[in-house]
Amino acid sequence: MKVPRFSTKAESHTYRSWGMSIIGMTASPEAFLAREAEMCYAIMAHVTDYDVWHVTESPVTVEMVIQTLNKNTEIAQEAIRSLVRNIQPERACNCDSALSTALITDPKVIPAETLEKLRPLVGKYYK
Ligand SMILES: [Zn+2]
Repeated sequence: MKVPRFSTKAESHTYRSWGMSIIGMTASPEAFLAREAEMCYAIMAHVTDYDVWHVTESPVTVEMVIQTLNKNTEIAQEAIRSLVRNIQPERACNCDSALSTALITDPKVIPAETLEKLRPLVGKYYK
């Protein structure tokens, strides 16, 4: 199970020392999985709070985060409605062939049952 987690104060100071301004708690696994599924992918990120290094801001409470999350959800829903109204159906990228040079396993050694499970993702490469 993957859940968002908050930084410890030490982690927060480390991230700042690296010059990071925004910390994401999720997203990397989704980006890899979308690429492997040859899906176009973009992140819509919303800031919820200051990380724990910030001493002049009030300490973050769960209620504050939930309130901001709810506002961000409304913004995200409107953004998706707008995207759906305006997205172009044709791709101008090569995401739909991302696996074309990535699959190196000889299909003869892939069990038929496994190949069948993966067919939605790799079927056009392993016929
Ligand atoms: Zn794409």
